[in-house]
Amino acid sequence: MKIGIVGLGLIGGSLAYDFRALGYPVLGVSRQPQTCEDAVKLGAVDAASADLASLAPVDVVFICTPVSVIDGIATRLIPHLSSDAILTDVGSVKGSVVKRLTPLWPRFIGGHPMAGSEETGIHAAQSQLFAGNPYILTPTPETPADVIQTLKDLVGKLDCNLYECSPTVHDRAVAWISHLPKMTSAALIAACLSEADPEILKLAQSFASSGFRDTSRVGGGNPELGCMMAQYNREELLRSLQQYRQSIDQLTDVIERSDWSALESWLSQTQTERPKFL
Ligand code: NAP
Repeated sequence: MKIGIVGLGLIGGSLAYDFRALGYPVLGVSRQPQTCEDAVKLGAVDAASADLASLAPVDVVFICTPVSVIDGIATRLIPHLSSDAILTDVGSVKGSVVKRLTPLWPRFIGGHPMAGSEETGIHAAQSQLFAGNPYILTPTPETPADVIQTLKDLVGKLDCNLYECSPTVHDRAVAWISHLPKMTSAALIAACLSEADPEILKLAQSFASSGFRDTSRVGGGNPELGCMMAQYNREELLRSLQQYRQSIDQLTDVIERSDWSALESWLSQTQTERPKFL
């Protein structure tokens, strides 16, 4: 089985490393010739070019570009694919992507590996990025059974935890644990920056340690990713942000009233519940 990767960045490059290590021939396509050259030099892919036609011989193509260009790439790629080729993507939202790609290619299945870092590009790619993390497939009732099985077998080899759900359910669930945290973590950084006294701000920046590193990591990452989450999963993100605002209001109210026992039971509940998410 030959594998094609379009978009040799953090996710595309990381998939390429793992599939190549598993013995699959991997052909890459990326926008910039320099990225293609680097991907070959780094050993992520067997060959790479900026030409989608170079993926004609592959059996499975992963589109790993920003969500906003996935359907344009699929449209230009499809004329070069063999009729039994499987097409998938790794976009962080699934509803809109699956809706646009399913009519274009019946052998398409949406996917989303829940792994990443705050860095981008081929130099941030790493092997074993997906091991131990969830990988969600979002077939529709029309997705052919052999397409689902082939993708399950293939991504299962990355040692990830495989899940299957509808694109709508996916978008609703990831709004809570991925898209909302991206926004709230960014809002935390913005709130700190609003400190009016430059001396205090400078000290806060110097005192920041592991707690701030953990809570600000996703908010300090790729802005393109956050804009994409808001644009393509707008309704679910707004729903979760409104609920988050209610939680902040409740917390503020409890502190304003100096109701320390209510605060303690609130924090005890979050302490008890957190492990269920991880
Ligand atoms: P990234 O590191 O910026 O990689 C994206 C790559 O796509 C870039 O290196 C760029 O390559 C290439 N690209 C952009 N436009 C292109 C085009 N028109 N044609 C061909 N290649 C193009 O971003 P990423 O973090 O890997 O994200 C890629 C996808 O993974 C997104 O859809 C995102 O939603 C999803 N995702 C991200 C994470 C995460 O945490 N980062 C997690 C799960 C899923 P050049 O260098 O050649 O321009």
